[in-house]
Amino acid sequence: MTTNLLDFDAKAMAEHFAQMGEKPFRARQVLRWIHHMGAQHFDDMTDLAKSLRAQLERSCALPLPTILSDHTANDGTRKWLTDVGQGNAVETVYIPETSRGTLCISSQAGCAVNCRFCSTGHQGFNRNLTTGEIISQLWWANHALGADPKGNRVITNVVMMGMGEPLLNYNALVPALNLMLDDNAYGLSRRRVTVSTSGVVPMMDRLRDDCPVALAVSLHAPTDDLRDELVPLNKKYPLRELMAACQRYLVKAPRDFVTFEYVMLRGVNDSVAQAHELVALVRDVPCKFNLIPFNPFPESGLKASSRDQVRAFGEVLINAGIVTTIRKTRGEDIDAACGQLAGQVLDRTRRNERAAEQVLQFTPRPASSNVISFEQMQAQIEQLAQSAQGKGGAS
Ligand code: SAH
Ligand code: SF4
Repeated sequence: MTTNLLDFDAKAMAEHFAQMGEKPFRARQVLRWIHHMGAQHFDDMTDLAKSLRAQLERSCALPLPTILSDHTANDGTRKWLTDVGQGNAVETVYIPETSRGTLCISSQAGCAVNCRFCSTGHQGFNRNLTTGEIISQLWWANHALGADPKGNRVITNVVMMGMGEPLLNYNALVPALNLMLDDNAYGLSRRRVTVSTSGVVPMMDRLRDDCPVALAVSLHAPTDDLRDELVPLNKKYPLRELMAACQRYLVKAPRDFVTFEYVMLRGVNDSVAQAHELVALVRDVPCKFNLIPFNPFPESGLKASSRDQVRAFGEVLINAGIVTTIRKTRGEDIDAACGQLAGQVLDRTRRNERAAEQVLQFTPRPASSNVISFEQMQAQIEQLAQSAQGKGGAS
């Protein structure tokens, strides 16, 4: 049986090479060849002795998964569908922006959490991805996108916001994160790698200790009654425990805030009164909010909030001093978003044409100032976002 070297972070690679009777620096060299240089074959690793290359050829493999489709939207958003066997596929989305390039990566085929508004959840759980399958999404995107004119890689940020609940695939996730951060692999900053979770409290604590990266928590409701319905995991880890876990996470986090994601559902979680409840809920957690326009799908029975309602909701948070962003869907076909990915090979590819998200930033303004139109607010927000990026404030 051959050993899949894509499953190994630096530590596991060193252990494997030690077992082979090889020096630790050989492990580093091979790691660098695979992830930094993008080598696909042991024969390409020209600074290894021929005998070692032959031994690796015999006993190890680099099984990059098959790409089933590769679509680019008009705005440059690019999406790959990767075969993970048995009729399942996972999606990876690249979202280019002026000062950064973000890759949205999947962690599982399907998802067991079964949030009501999420089509990945409706698909049910198929299986965990391996470390190799998680990191291959980044490998492949780097390979396909190439470098910018200055020779730099274009992917500067990774968000674990594709299909699946990353913290329910913890053992495969952490080595993949280690590779993202490793200078011999992808060398991304901790602040630019974000794990998004529906709130697996004990695993948030472990992540903080094992591999603290930026944290996003999918909140979606200000009360346990409502969150129990929208995010069934809440019955196990209710809001009080979730807020406490966020506070504990921040002790070691590379950023001094948690990002709360909140899908805006018409008549369900989008009232001004609920916004006030939310402000009270997060009072002791330094945070930013990301309001996500709901991408409807028929089985959910849910509708998206109106723009006016999103604005009114956002204003309550802003006026409470919470930095709030609205995720703006880009692309022609806006039928899906990160997290809304269903990845079945046969009938889901059309929605893949769609989609990327641009973050627009609101900043607090005095409650007394005149109400402005949504369009005016967006223009203002875009300016603010650009000036923040100019100061190196892009996340
Ligand atoms: N399981 C993790 C990460 C993947 S989901 C989590 O839940 O955080 C990534 C994001 O996509 C989540 O914030 C989720 O709420 C959001 N999402 C899911 N379904 C969506 C939909 N139909 N429309 C808009 N956003 C959605
Ligand atoms: Fe799973 Fe996240 Fe979708 Fe919930 S929103 S079902 S946790 S992928």
